[in-house]
Amino acid sequence: MVRYLDPVCKLCRREGEKLYLKGQRCHTAKCSIEKRSTPPGLQMGQLPKKLSEYGLRLRAKQKARRFYGLSERQFRLTYEKATRLKGVKSLNFLTQLERRLDNFVFRIGLALSRSQARQLVRHGHIFVNGKRVDIPSYLVKKDDLISTSEKSKLVFDAVVNSRGDRKVPSWIDFNEARKEGRIMHWPAREEIDVPITEHLIVEFYSR
Ligand code: SF4
Repeated sequence: MVRYLDPVCKLCRREGEKLYLKGQRCHTAKCSIEKRSTPPGLQMGQLPKKLSEYGLRLRAKQKARRFYGLSERQFRLTYEKATRLKGVKSLNFLTQLERRLDNFVFRIGLALSRSQARQLVRHGHIFVNGKRVDIPSYLVKKDDLISTSEKSKLVFDAVVNSRGDRKVPSWIDFNEARKEGRIMHWPAREEIDVPITEHLIVEFYSR
C-alpha cells in the first residue's frame, strides 16, 4: 500500500472541512482548518476554481477515501464488493466501510483516530471472538465480539477516557468496563455520521 507521508492536515484543507485525522488535536484550536481553511496552494482571499460535474464527484470520492484512510485500490475494491450485494448500493458501500475492523475500533472509542486504530489492529491488540486479528480490513460480522488484549486494557482505559464527547454509534453495543463491542444491527443511513455524499461516489464509479 502506498503510504501518504505529507502532513495530513493538508488533506482537510484540500477538502475544505475537518476530516478528523489527528485525534485530539482536531478538537482544539490547534486544528489547521481553524487557523487557515484555504486549500493548499491558494493564498488567503483567493477563490478556488468552480468544479465541473466530474470534479464534484471526484472530490466526493477523495473526501470519503481520505476520511476512512484508504488507498485508491482498497477504496475501489470495497465499492466493487458493495455493488455485488443486494440492496441500496450507496448504503451497502458505507456499511462495508463502517464494518472494517480499524473503523469499528475507532467507532467504539478504543482509538482517537482511524490511523491509530489501524496501528492497534496491526500490532495485535485487538481480538475478534477471542482470537487475535491483525488485519485492519477484516469485516466485522453481526455476531463478532470485538475485545482487547488483557495486557493493553490499561492503555485502552486512558484512550476511552480521553475520547471526549464522541459517542458510540447507536448500531453498536459497547461494554466500556470490559472494552468489548459488537454490532447490534446493520446501520441505517442516518445512523452513520459521516460528511459524505455517497450517491456522488456511486456516480463517479459508474461513469
Ligand atoms: Fe484535519 Fe484534524 Fe488536522 Fe484539523 S487537526 S486539519 S481536523 S487532521
